[in-house]
Amino acid sequence: MEPIISARQLEVDFDGFKAIRGLDFTLHPGELRFLIGPNGAGKTTLLDVLCGKVKPSKGRVLFKGYTDLARHQEHQIAQLGIGRKFQAPSIFVTLTVQENLLLAMRQQRGLLSTLVAKTTAEQRSKLHDYLEMIGLTSKQKEKAGALSHGEKQWLEIGMLLIHEPELLLLDEPAAGMTDSETEKTGELLHRISDRQTVVVVEHDMEFVRRFAKTVTVMHEGMVLREGSMQEVQRDERVAEVYLGR
Ligand code: ADP
Repeated sequence: MEPIISARQLEVDFDGFKAIRGLDFTLHPGELRFLIGPNGAGKTTLLDVLCGKVKPSKGRVLFKGYTDLARHQEHQIAQLGIGRKFQAPSIFVTLTVQENLLLAMRQQRGLLSTLVAKTTAEQRSKLHDYLEMIGLTSKQKEKAGALSHGEKQWLEIGMLLIHEPELLLLDEPAAGMTDSETEKTGELLHRISDRQTVVVVEHDMEFVRRFAKTVTVMHEGMVLREGSMQEVQRDERVAEVYLGR
């Protein structure tokens, strides 16, 4: 199967400091991959490269085997089908859940349909599906500002998903959530990965143990180990640099 992402000998240089140094990273369609590693390992920088926010100083990052992401701007990469969610939610608090999703859906269709307020049957059906997906069907008429922290995060994920990205990049999606919200977020990630490829930067090791399918351990701008959580935990080098043993 063609990888959705294939990065070779990637380097990111911040004024002489190499945050990523000679990194190889391959991701296949349908994966739910967690990026873990100590602070400063380069996890966020890797997500930034994948969404075009940061340009590599060396190396290639191919999307679906042919598009070199290093040659595209951030907005072009979003249009190619890579969605990135940052930690702080960027929802419209005075609009309802449903309106937020509709707005996200219409942006994708261009100005003309944004101005035409009437929802089509197709849009209503899509809205229904995504409300179900993010678990906010019963809250669709509520103002986004009245949602809990977790619900706001799910709404924002829904607003990204409605663009139907092939690859979704998430930065600590369960940060600050209650236990039950954290659990629901893990389940949501699994539902998303039934349809799309997902990469998650995560510090909460309990969350990783519970929900990760495959894990990439990063250290000093490189990949130290990849595999299931059980496999990487058994690796002595991982224990040394990361788990502090
Ligand atoms: P992680 O997400 O694994 O904690 P980061 O990717 O945020 O690591 O950072 C990797 C290294 O690059 C860190 O040492 C960080 O200080 C540095 N770094 C990240 N962004 C910048 C930047 N814009 N300018 C300079 N150094 C940066």
